[in-house]
Amino acid sequence: MRVKLVVQVKLLPDETARAALRETLHTCNRAANHASRRAFETGVTGKQSLQRLVYAEVKAMGLSAQPALHAIRKTAGAYATLKANLKAGNYGREGSKRRKAAESKPIRFRKEAAQPFDDRCLSWQMDARTVSIWTVCGRVRGIGFQCSLSQLKMLTEHRRGESDLVFRGGNWYLYATCEVPEPELGDPVGFLGVDLGIVNIATTSDGHRYAGKHLNQVRHRYRRLRQRLQKKGTKSAKRLLRKLSGREARFAADTNHRIAKRLVTEAQRTCRGIALEDLGGIRDRVRLRKPQRVTLHSWSFAQLGGFVSYKAALVGVPVVFVDPRHTSQECSRCHHISRGNRPDQSTFLCTSCGFAEHADVNAGRTIAQRGGVVWAVSHAAGDAA
Ligand SMILES: [Zn+2]
Repeated sequence: MRVKLVVQVKLLPDETARAALRETLHTCNRAANHASRRAFETGVTGKQSLQRLVYAEVKAMGLSAQPALHAIRKTAGAYATLKANLKAGNYGREGSKRRKAAESKPIRFRKEAAQPFDDRCLSWQMDARTVSIWTVCGRVRGIGFQCSLSQLKMLTEHRRGESDLVFRGGNWYLYATCEVPEPELGDPVGFLGVDLGIVNIATTSDGHRYAGKHLNQVRHRYRRLRQRLQKKGTKSAKRLLRKLSGREARFAADTNHRIAKRLVTEAQRTCRGIALEDLGGIRDRVRLRKPQRVTLHSWSFAQLGGFVSYKAALVGVPVVFVDPRHTSQECSRCHHISRGNRPDQSTFLCTSCGFAEHADVNAGRTIAQRGGVVWAVSHAAGDAA
Protein backbone atom coordinates (compact mmCIF):
# COMPACT_ATOMS: atom_id res chain seq x y z
CA MET A 1 0.00 0.00 0.00
CA ARG A 2 1.09 3.54 -0.77
CA VAL A 3 -0.07 6.85 0.63
CA LYS A 4 -0.54 9.57 -1.97
CA LEU A 5 0.11 13.12 -1.00
CA VAL A 6 0.57 16.42 -2.75
CA VAL A 7 3.49 18.75 -2.21
CA GLN A 8 2.87 22.37 -3.22
CA VAL A 9 5.84 24.48 -4.24
CA LYS A 10 5.78 28.11 -5.23
CA LEU A 11 7.55 28.94 -8.47
CA LEU A 12 9.76 32.01 -8.80
CA PRO A 13 9.58 32.81 -12.50
CA ASP A 14 11.00 36.01 -13.97
CA GLU A 15 8.93 38.29 -16.21
CA THR A 16 9.63 36.29 -19.39
CA ALA A 17 8.88 32.96 -17.74
CA ARG A 18 5.66 34.32 -16.25
CA ALA A 19 4.46 35.39 -19.66
CA ALA A 20 5.35 31.98 -21.12
CA LEU A 21 3.51 30.14 -18.33
CA ARG A 22 0.45 32.34 -18.70
CA GLU A 23 0.34 31.85 -22.46
CA THR A 24 0.74 28.09 -21.94
CA LEU A 25 -2.16 27.77 -19.50
CA HIS A 26 -4.35 29.90 -21.77
CA THR A 27 -3.53 27.73 -24.79
CA CYS A 28 -4.03 24.47 -22.88
CA ASN A 29 -7.45 25.61 -21.68
CA ARG A 30 -8.45 26.90 -25.09
CA ALA A 31 -7.58 23.42 -26.34
CA ALA A 32 -9.53 21.75 -23.53
CA ASN A 33 -12.55 23.95 -24.30
CA HIS A 34 -12.30 23.04 -27.97
CA ALA A 35 -12.16 19.33 -27.07
CA SER A 36 -15.11 19.91 -24.74
CA ARG A 37 -17.23 21.51 -27.45
CA ARG A 38 -16.44 18.64 -29.82
CA ALA A 39 -17.25 16.10 -27.14
CA PHE A 40 -20.55 17.84 -26.48
CA GLU A 41 -21.52 18.02 -30.17
CA THR A 42 -20.64 14.42 -30.94
CA GLY A 43 -21.37 12.73 -27.64
CA VAL A 44 -17.86 11.24 -27.71
CA THR A 45 -16.47 11.60 -24.18
CA GLY A 46 -14.31 8.49 -23.62
CA LYS A 47 -10.60 9.15 -23.19
CA GLN A 48 -9.41 7.05 -26.16
CA SER A 49 -12.22 7.92 -28.54
CA LEU A 50 -12.09 11.64 -27.80
CA GLN A 51 -8.34 11.51 -28.35
CA ARG A 52 -8.85 9.94 -31.78
CA LEU A 53 -11.46 12.56 -32.62
CA VAL A 54 -9.65 15.76 -31.67
CA TYR A 55 -5.92 15.05 -31.24
CA ALA A 56 -4.90 16.56 -34.58
CA GLU A 57 -7.12 19.59 -34.06
CA VAL A 58 -5.77 20.23 -30.60
CA LYS A 59 -2.18 19.87 -31.75
CA ALA A 60 -2.86 22.39 -34.47
CA MET A 61 -3.77 24.91 -31.77
CA GLY A 62 -0.11 25.07 -30.77
CA LEU A 63 0.32 22.24 -28.28
CA SER A 64 2.99 19.57 -28.53
CA ALA A 65 2.07 15.90 -28.16
CA GLN A 66 2.05 15.43 -24.37
CA PRO A 67 0.27 18.67 -23.43
CA ALA A 68 -2.30 17.97 -26.15
CA LEU A 69 -2.98 14.53 -24.69
CA HIS A 70 -3.23 15.99 -21.18
CA ALA A 71 -5.71 18.65 -22.30
CA ILE A 72 -7.89 15.97 -23.92
CA ARG A 73 -7.59 13.70 -20.91
CA LYS A 74 -8.58 16.59 -18.64
CA THR A 75 -11.71 17.12 -20.76
CA ALA A 76 -12.61 13.41 -20.80
CA GLY A 77 -12.07 13.32 -17.03
CA ALA A 78 -14.38 16.30 -16.50
CA TYR A 79 -17.14 14.61 -18.51
CA ALA A 80 -16.68 11.38 -16.55
CA THR A 81 -17.00 13.33 -13.30
CA LEU A 82 -20.10 15.13 -14.59
CA LYS A 83 -21.66 11.83 -15.61
CA ALA A 84 -20.95 10.30 -12.22
CA ASN A 85 -22.41 13.36 -10.47
CA LEU A 86 -25.55 13.25 -12.62
CA LYS A 87 -25.93 9.56 -11.88
CA ALA A 88 -25.47 10.15 -8.16
CA GLY A 89 -28.22 12.78 -8.28
CA ASN A 90 -25.92 15.64 -7.28
CA TYR A 91 -27.60 17.93 -9.81
CA GLY A 92 -31.11 17.03 -8.73
CA ARG A 93 -33.69 14.81 -10.42
CA GLU A 94 -34.14 14.28 -14.13
CA GLY A 95 -35.75 17.37 -15.63
CA SER A 96 -34.75 19.68 -12.81
CA LYS A 97 -33.42 23.14 -13.62
CA ARG A 98 -29.91 22.55 -12.29
CA ARG A 99 -29.65 19.26 -14.10
CA LYS A 100 -30.77 20.76 -17.38
CA ALA A 101 -28.26 23.59 -16.96
CA ALA A 102 -25.46 21.07 -16.44
CA GLU A 103 -26.48 18.91 -19.40
CA SER A 104 -27.39 21.59 -21.92
CA LYS A 105 -23.95 23.04 -22.68
CA PRO A 106 -20.33 21.95 -23.00
CA ILE A 107 -18.17 21.93 -19.89
CA ARG A 108 -16.13 25.15 -19.71
CA PHE A 109 -12.61 25.47 -18.33
CA ARG A 110 -11.39 28.73 -16.88
CA LYS A 111 -8.68 30.52 -18.83
CA GLU A 112 -6.27 29.74 -16.02
CA ALA A 113 -7.52 26.33 -14.90
CA ALA A 114 -4.76 23.99 -13.69
CA GLN A 115 -2.96 21.82 -16.22
CA PRO A 116 -1.11 18.55 -15.52
CA PHE A 117 2.52 18.11 -16.70
CA ASP A 118 4.31 14.77 -16.86
CA ASP A 119 8.04 14.06 -16.69
CA ARG A 120 8.53 14.63 -20.40
CA CYS A 121 7.30 18.21 -20.11
CA LEU A 122 8.57 19.02 -16.66
CA SER A 123 11.87 18.09 -15.03
CA TRP A 124 13.08 18.84 -11.51
CA GLN A 125 16.59 19.82 -10.50
CA MET A 126 16.34 19.24 -6.76
CA ASP A 127 19.90 20.37 -5.86
CA ALA A 128 19.52 23.66 -7.65
CA ARG A 129 15.84 23.92 -6.64
CA THR A 130 14.78 24.67 -10.17
CA VAL A 131 12.45 23.18 -12.74
CA SER A 132 12.53 23.12 -16.48
CA ILE A 133 9.13 23.20 -18.12
CA TRP A 134 7.66 22.96 -21.61
CA THR A 135 5.73 26.05 -22.67
CA VAL A 136 4.12 27.22 -25.89
CA CYS A 137 7.08 29.62 -26.17
CA GLY A 138 9.60 26.78 -25.96
CA ARG A 139 11.24 25.05 -23.02
CA VAL A 140 11.88 27.40 -20.08
CA ARG A 141 14.79 26.31 -17.89
CA GLY A 142 15.98 27.29 -14.46
CA ILE A 143 12.72 28.47 -12.87
CA GLY A 144 13.42 28.54 -9.15
CA PHE A 145 11.01 27.08 -6.62
CA GLN A 146 10.48 27.59 -2.90
CA CYS A 147 9.92 24.75 -0.47
CA SER A 148 10.85 23.57 3.01
CA LEU A 149 13.62 21.04 3.64
CA SER A 150 11.12 18.30 4.47
CA GLN A 151 9.18 19.01 1.27
CA LEU A 152 12.43 18.85 -0.70
CA LYS A 153 13.23 15.48 0.85
CA MET A 154 9.74 14.21 0.04
CA LEU A 155 10.04 15.39 -3.57
CA THR A 156 13.51 13.91 -4.01
CA GLU A 157 12.55 10.50 -2.66
CA HIS A 158 8.92 10.00 -3.58
CA ARG A 159 7.74 12.28 -6.38
CA ARG A 160 5.99 10.25 -9.07
CA GLY A 161 4.04 10.97 -12.22
CA GLU A 162 2.31 14.23 -12.94
CA SER A 163 2.37 17.67 -11.36
CA ASP A 164 -0.30 20.31 -11.81
CA LEU A 165 0.67 23.81 -12.89
CA VAL A 166 -1.57 26.16 -10.89
CA PHE A 167 -2.05 29.93 -11.06
CA ARG A 168 -3.50 31.21 -7.81
CA GLY A 169 -3.73 34.68 -6.32
CA GLY A 170 -1.23 36.08 -8.80
CA ASN A 171 1.38 33.40 -8.08
CA TRP A 172 2.51 30.23 -9.84
CA TYR A 173 2.65 26.86 -8.12
CA LEU A 174 3.39 23.25 -8.91
CA TYR A 175 1.32 20.63 -7.09
CA ALA A 176 3.50 17.53 -7.22
CA THR A 177 2.18 14.06 -6.44
CA CYS A 178 4.28 11.92 -4.11
CA GLU A 179 3.69 8.26 -3.33
CA VAL A 180 5.08 7.04 -0.07
CA PRO A 181 5.14 3.36 0.89
CA GLU A 182 2.91 2.81 3.88
CA PRO A 183 4.78 1.26 6.81
CA GLU A 184 3.31 -1.72 8.68
CA LEU A 185 1.01 -0.66 11.49
CA GLY A 186 2.59 -1.20 14.87
CA ASP A 187 0.71 -2.94 17.65
CA PRO A 188 -0.19 0.06 19.79
CA VAL A 189 0.26 0.19 23.55
CA GLY A 190 -2.96 2.08 24.17
CA PHE A 191 -4.47 5.06 22.40
CA LEU A 192 -4.17 8.80 22.42
CA GLY A 193 -7.79 9.98 22.58
CA VAL A 194 -8.67 13.27 20.86
CA ASP A 195 -11.75 15.29 21.73
CA LEU A 196 -12.80 17.87 19.15
CA GLY A 197 -14.50 21.11 20.06
CA ILE A 198 -14.81 24.82 19.51
CA VAL A 199 -13.25 26.44 22.55
CA ASN A 200 -10.49 23.87 22.22
CA ILE A 201 -10.12 22.57 18.68
CA ALA A 202 -8.52 19.40 19.98
CA THR A 203 -7.91 18.09 23.51
CA THR A 204 -5.94 14.90 24.13
CA SER A 205 -6.40 12.28 26.80
CA ASP A 206 -2.95 13.37 28.07
CA GLY A 207 -4.41 16.77 28.89
CA HIS A 208 -2.91 18.75 26.01
CA ARG A 209 -5.26 21.39 24.64
CA TYR A 210 -5.10 23.09 21.25
CA ALA A 211 -6.99 26.34 21.81
CA GLY A 212 -9.28 27.58 19.08
CA LYS A 213 -9.28 31.20 20.24
CA HIS A 214 -7.00 32.61 17.56
CA LEU A 215 -8.64 30.65 14.78
CA ASN A 216 -12.13 31.66 15.92
CA GLN A 217 -11.06 35.32 16.02
CA VAL A 218 -9.76 35.10 12.49
CA ARG A 219 -12.97 33.44 11.36
CA HIS A 220 -15.15 36.11 12.97
CA ARG A 221 -13.07 38.84 11.36
CA TYR A 222 -13.49 37.26 7.94
CA ARG A 223 -17.22 36.83 8.52
CA ARG A 224 -17.70 40.51 9.34
CA LEU A 225 -15.72 41.48 6.24
CA ARG A 226 -17.79 39.10 4.13
CA GLN A 227 -21.05 40.58 5.36
CA ARG A 228 -19.88 44.09 4.52
CA LEU A 229 -18.78 43.05 1.03
CA GLN A 230 -21.98 41.12 0.36
CA LYS A 231 -23.98 44.22 1.14
CA LYS A 232 -21.91 46.19 -1.36
CA GLY A 233 -22.49 43.60 -4.08
CA THR A 234 -20.22 45.24 -6.64
CA LYS A 235 -18.02 43.30 -9.03
CA SER A 236 -14.83 44.21 -7.22
CA ALA A 237 -16.45 43.28 -3.91
CA LYS A 238 -17.30 39.86 -5.31
CA ARG A 239 -13.73 39.38 -6.49
CA LEU A 240 -12.43 40.28 -3.06
CA LEU A 241 -14.93 37.87 -1.49
CA ARG A 242 -13.54 34.98 -3.51
CA LYS A 243 -10.02 35.92 -2.54
CA LEU A 244 -10.94 36.11 1.14
CA SER A 245 -12.67 32.74 1.21
CA GLY A 246 -9.55 31.14 -0.25
CA ARG A 247 -7.36 32.86 2.31
CA GLU A 248 -9.56 31.83 5.23
CA ALA A 249 -9.69 28.23 4.06
CA ARG A 250 -5.90 28.12 3.76
CA PHE A 251 -5.49 29.55 7.25
CA ALA A 252 -7.85 26.91 8.68
CA ALA A 253 -6.11 24.14 6.74
CA ASP A 254 -2.74 25.32 7.99
CA THR A 255 -4.00 25.22 11.59
CA ASN A 256 -5.36 21.71 11.04
CA HIS A 257 -2.05 20.59 9.54
CA ARG A 258 -0.11 21.81 12.54
CA ILE A 259 -2.45 20.18 15.07
CA ALA A 260 -2.50 16.89 13.14
CA LYS A 261 1.28 16.85 13.00
CA ARG A 262 1.62 17.36 16.77
CA LEU A 263 -0.95 14.66 17.52
CA VAL A 264 0.71 12.11 15.26
CA THR A 265 4.20 12.91 16.58
CA GLU A 266 3.00 12.44 20.14
CA ALA A 267 1.29 9.12 19.39
CA GLN A 268 4.34 7.87 17.48
CA ARG A 269 6.74 8.87 20.26
CA THR A 270 4.72 6.93 22.83
CA CYS A 271 3.95 3.92 20.57
CA ARG A 272 0.22 4.54 20.77
CA GLY A 273 -2.57 4.68 18.22
CA ILE A 274 -4.90 7.65 17.82
CA ALA A 275 -8.60 7.50 18.63
CA LEU A 276 -10.90 10.10 17.07
CA GLU A 277 -14.62 10.53 17.24
CA ASP A 278 -16.51 9.35 14.20
CA LEU A 279 -16.88 12.76 12.61
CA GLY A 280 -20.07 12.19 10.68
CA GLY A 281 -22.27 12.78 13.69
CA ILE A 282 -20.62 15.82 15.16
CA ARG A 283 -23.19 18.33 13.99
CA ASP A 284 -26.07 16.34 15.43
CA ARG A 285 -24.33 15.88 18.73
CA VAL A 286 -23.40 19.43 19.55
CA ARG A 287 -26.16 21.94 20.23
CA LEU A 288 -25.03 25.46 20.79
CA ARG A 289 -26.19 29.03 20.76
CA LYS A 290 -26.39 30.46 17.29
CA PRO A 291 -23.12 32.43 16.92
CA GLN A 292 -21.11 29.43 18.05
CA ARG A 293 -23.08 27.05 15.90
CA VAL A 294 -22.08 29.03 12.82
CA THR A 295 -18.44 28.69 13.83
CA LEU A 296 -18.83 24.97 14.25
CA HIS A 297 -20.47 24.46 10.90
CA SER A 298 -17.82 26.33 9.00
CA TRP A 299 -15.04 24.64 10.93
CA SER A 300 -13.88 21.48 9.26
CA PHE A 301 -13.36 18.71 11.76
CA ALA A 302 -13.55 16.28 8.88
CA GLN A 303 -10.44 17.90 7.42
CA LEU A 304 -8.55 17.51 10.68
CA GLY A 305 -9.56 13.85 10.78
CA GLY A 306 -8.32 13.42 7.22
CA PHE A 307 -4.96 15.06 7.96
CA VAL A 308 -4.48 12.94 11.08
CA SER A 309 -5.33 9.78 9.11
CA TYR A 310 -2.81 10.29 6.33
CA LYS A 311 -0.03 11.65 8.51
CA ALA A 312 -0.51 8.66 10.82
CA ALA A 313 -0.51 6.22 7.90
CA LEU A 314 2.85 7.66 6.77
CA VAL A 315 4.52 6.65 10.02
CA GLY A 316 2.56 3.48 10.80
CA VAL A 317 0.42 4.88 13.63
CA PRO A 318 -3.00 3.18 13.72
CA VAL A 319 -6.06 5.45 13.76
CA VAL A 320 -9.49 4.30 14.92
CA PHE A 321 -12.81 6.13 14.85
CA VAL A 322 -15.13 5.63 17.80
CA ASP A 323 -18.80 6.16 18.53
CA PRO A 324 -19.06 9.79 19.71
CA ARG A 325 -22.27 9.38 21.71
CA HIS A 326 -22.12 10.65 25.30
CA THR A 327 -18.34 11.14 25.29
CA SER A 328 -18.88 14.45 27.04
CA GLN A 329 -21.14 12.98 29.72
CA GLU A 330 -19.38 9.68 30.48
CA CYS A 331 -17.02 9.42 33.45
CA SER A 332 -13.67 8.12 32.20
CA ARG A 333 -13.03 6.47 35.60
CA CYS A 334 -16.29 4.66 36.46
CA HIS A 335 -18.18 4.98 33.12
CA HIS A 336 -21.24 6.49 34.77
CA ILE A 337 -23.14 8.50 32.13
CA SER A 338 -25.19 11.51 33.20
CA ARG A 339 -25.90 15.04 32.04
CA GLY A 340 -25.43 15.97 35.70
CA ASN A 341 -21.71 15.11 35.37
CA ARG A 342 -21.27 18.45 33.63
CA PRO A 343 -21.94 21.35 36.02
CA ASP A 344 -20.63 23.76 33.36
CA GLN A 345 -19.01 23.90 29.92
CA SER A 346 -15.45 23.26 31.04
CA THR A 347 -15.92 21.09 34.14
CA PHE A 348 -16.46 17.37 34.53
CA LEU A 349 -17.51 16.18 38.00
CA CYS A 350 -18.82 12.61 38.29
CA THR A 351 -22.01 12.42 40.36
CA SER A 352 -21.30 8.75 41.03
CA CYS A 353 -17.59 8.44 41.96
CA GLY A 354 -16.61 12.09 42.43
CA PHE A 355 -13.93 12.06 39.71
CA ALA A 356 -13.10 15.62 38.62
CA GLU A 357 -11.26 16.73 35.47
CA HIS A 358 -11.39 19.33 32.73
CA ALA A 359 -14.42 18.32 30.66
CA ASP A 360 -12.52 18.04 27.36
CA VAL A 361 -9.69 16.01 28.92
CA ASN A 362 -12.22 13.60 30.44
CA ALA A 363 -13.85 13.24 27.01
CA GLY A 364 -10.42 12.63 25.47
CA ARG A 365 -9.82 9.80 27.94
CA THR A 366 -13.18 8.21 27.24
CA ILE A 367 -12.40 8.37 23.51
CA ALA A 368 -8.98 6.77 24.15
CA GLN A 369 -10.63 3.90 26.04
CA ARG A 370 -13.20 3.38 23.31
CA GLY A 371 -10.32 3.35 20.80
CA GLY A 372 -8.73 0.47 22.70
CA VAL A 373 -11.99 -1.48 22.54
CA VAL A 374 -12.47 -0.83 18.80
CA TRP A 375 -8.90 -1.98 18.12
CA ALA A 376 -9.24 -5.13 20.25
CA VAL A 377 -12.54 -6.09 18.62
CA SER A 378 -11.35 -5.51 15.05
CA HIS A 379 -8.14 -7.43 15.68
CA ALA A 380 -9.87 -10.37 17.34
CA ALA A 381 -12.07 -10.56 14.24
CA GLY A 382 -8.96 -10.41 12.03
CA ASP A 383 -7.39 -13.35 13.86
CA ALA A 384 -10.50 -15.47 13.51
CA ALA A 385 -10.76 -14.86 9.76
ZN1 LIG B 1 -17.22 8.35 37.88
